[in-house]
Amino acid sequence: MNSKAIDGNRIRDEILLESKARVERVAARGRPPGLAVILVGEDPASQIYVRNKIKTCEGLGIHSEKLTPPPSIATGDLIEMVRELNRRDEIDGVLVQMPLPKHIDSKSVLMAISPDKDVDGLHPVSVGNLVTNRLGLRPCTPLGVIEILKRNQVPIAGARAVVVGRSDLVGKPVAFLLLHEHATVTLCHSRTVDLPGVCRQADILVAAMGRAAMITAEYIKPGATVIDVGINRISDRAQAAAIFAQRPDKLAQFEQKGSILVGDVHPVEVAACAGLYTPVPGGVGPLTIAMLMSNTIDAAERRLGGC
Ligand code: NDP
Repeated sequence: MNSKAIDGNRIRDEILLESKARVERVAARGRPPGLAVILVGEDPASQIYVRNKIKTCEGLGIHSEKLTPPPSIATGDLIEMVRELNRRDEIDGVLVQMPLPKHIDSKSVLMAISPDKDVDGLHPVSVGNLVTNRLGLRPCTPLGVIEILKRNQVPIAGARAVVVGRSDLVGKPVAFLLLHEHATVTLCHSRTVDLPGVCRQADILVAAMGRAAMITAEYIKPGATVIDVGINRISDRAQAAAIFAQRPDKLAQFEQKGSILVGDVHPVEVAACAGLYTPVPGGVGPLTIAMLMSNTIDAAERRLGGC
């Protein structure tokens, strides 16, 4: 099988370049788009994510603000902080970095974000807009999946699409986005009977389970497009050796770092039987931040009354 790995970094750069021009058009109307990110606590991964978001905003000319209330902040005070951002005209997007400390009621905080500034697309109003295919902000990673398919000219209308994983963050929104692009969609989960058989029917297979290298050749129709959303860090040597038996370069990487990133799709087997596929890292991952920028600009354009 002549398979091809999709370069997610290249697509991210393409979207960021387009975004830069869009930011300039918005700015020419009086002010640049604005994104506020609230980071509570010291989670190292969250700190890196937020730093990257702010840095990407700066590179595009998007006004950005990072708010870091003390980890002891009460739910009510955090909600008031969100409401203040909702009121501010120069802020188009409000993002509360998850996870929040355990004593905070995360759902209530997310509910407080004004739907027209909900750049993560997780507010129930945004979810309703997605399900009914109305204008609204969509979750970033699922949007990235669609961008990857479109920018690689993968036909979606009429295709059989199978999504594995039904989370509110990834699986469900991906399924609805594919449905609105006229795919025939099957949404699978941990109780699906004969998962390999269902997956083998897919022209487009999207894996979002958080199970390292679970999707092997027996799940993949030869020539299918396989999109791997999963990000799993493996630190077990035997598991790494089993997955990367034919990839000494990857095993060397594992030995050097003591761990390695693997998607939900078996990296060696997908390369042998898919048509197009996204690698991990370097596939879907880079798109998430690009789509956050795109959502922030969308929100600004809509709040300014279109561009
Ligand atoms: P969740 O844990 O919220 O959901 C996992 C889903 O997978 C559930 O619906 C679960 O089914 C299903 N599932 C789990 N095990 C199996 C199995 N053995 N067979 C079939 N289905 C199974 O995960 P998320 O949706 O938040 O994330 C999924 C993956 O995507 C993770 O690896 C995460 O790190 C990654 N991710 C990547 C992002 C990116 O930027 N690239 C962004 C967000 C997530 P059930 O409902 O029955 O329990």
